[in-house]
Amino acid sequence: MSISPDQVIRPEILALSGYHVPHAVGMVKLDAMENPYPLPLELREEIARLAADAPLNRYPDAGAVALKATLREALSVPAGMDIMLGNGSDEIIQIIALACAKPGAVLMSVEPAFVMFRMIATFARIDYRGVPLNTDFSLDLDAVLESMARHQPAVIFIAYPNNPTGNLFDTGAISRIIKAAPGLVVVDEAYHAFAGASFMDKLTQYPNLLVMRTLSKLGLAGLRLGILAGRPEWVAQLEKLRLPYNVGIATQLIAEKVLQHSEVLLQQAAAIKRERTAMGERLAALEGTEVFSSDANFILFRVTHQHEAGQVFQQLKKRGILIKNLDGSHPLLRNCLRVTVGTPDENNQFLMALQASLKT
Ligand SMILES: *Cc1c(COP(=O)(O)O)cnc(C)c1O
Repeated sequence: MSISPDQVIRPEILALSGYHVPHAVGMVKLDAMENPYPLPLELREEIARLAADAPLNRYPDAGAVALKATLREALSVPAGMDIMLGNGSDEIIQIIALACAKPGAVLMSVEPAFVMFRMIATFARIDYRGVPLNTDFSLDLDAVLESMARHQPAVIFIAYPNNPTGNLFDTGAISRIIKAAPGLVVVDEAYHAFAGASFMDKLTQYPNLLVMRTLSKLGLAGLRLGILAGRPEWVAQLEKLRLPYNVGIATQLIAEKVLQHSEVLLQQAAAIKRERTAMGERLAALEGTEVFSSDANFILFRVTHQHEAGQVFQQLKKRGILIKNLDGSHPLLRNCLRVTVGTPDENNQFLMALQASLKT
């Protein structure tokens, strides 16, 4: 007798389509908000020496004490707040969802937002509610407040700036949400380096606020390090769900080393912001595009004049450029595409290929 997965696996997992990571070898890769710049050679050599000397036969420091001390400085975590580390911030979202998933509990976000909020809610068996944004991608505060009153969410996730739209929501609106929330509010600041705005310094003001950061978009996506900052009483509970050695020794050593040279990452972020401006202007100047302003390291744009995002995406792919097609993922994102800001040369290749695609 053979046993099939549908006899054993939860139906909502059977129904999921997994997070799709496209094949990108040999492509100009502008789909995943990666920093396009490598670290300087001397720093890479220091990292090589650290790796050579690392005691790989031992478990890593489960408390990551040295790295946390460095992060506390680098991220300006307010005194009195604690830090929890994740294998990427995705893992932190999962820990929070698991911790809040009482029977009938609700995890809320806005839509369109980071797709992992919804997916992880499914993994963790917590009910998901998404409140649509306005058509200009601003927060519909009344709708959020009303949905909060109705569903009493245990936790609300707000990406600030938002992905995939790239904008910062109104600070006052987010503060209203935090004050009215019956549970936790997690402000996900994955794109902080490109935004110049943060809720980190508001942790002391709001007892139900948690702030999330990641090193991924800053230039260390391959390391997998996410950071949560918040009050010790929340962090102590969440720590119970963190698997003890979730952040490996290589990640701990390398992240600490690179953060000691944080000026390198900040210079790269500044270069990306300059390119974002240049690219946004060139993109807007093309016939047949509507460009949304961005506070992140990517730009959302819509193709107009009878063009279809799916076709433009395929044309770009044929020309060796990989971006993200968002058409079909949410009604507000009809004919929208998202492009990560790359090096000047990559952005130029993208713009040339897009221009050619829009002509056909
Ligand atoms: C990319 C992204 C993350 C995931 O970051 P990792 O640390 O790489 O897991 C989290 N939140 C948002 C909004 C993102 O866009």
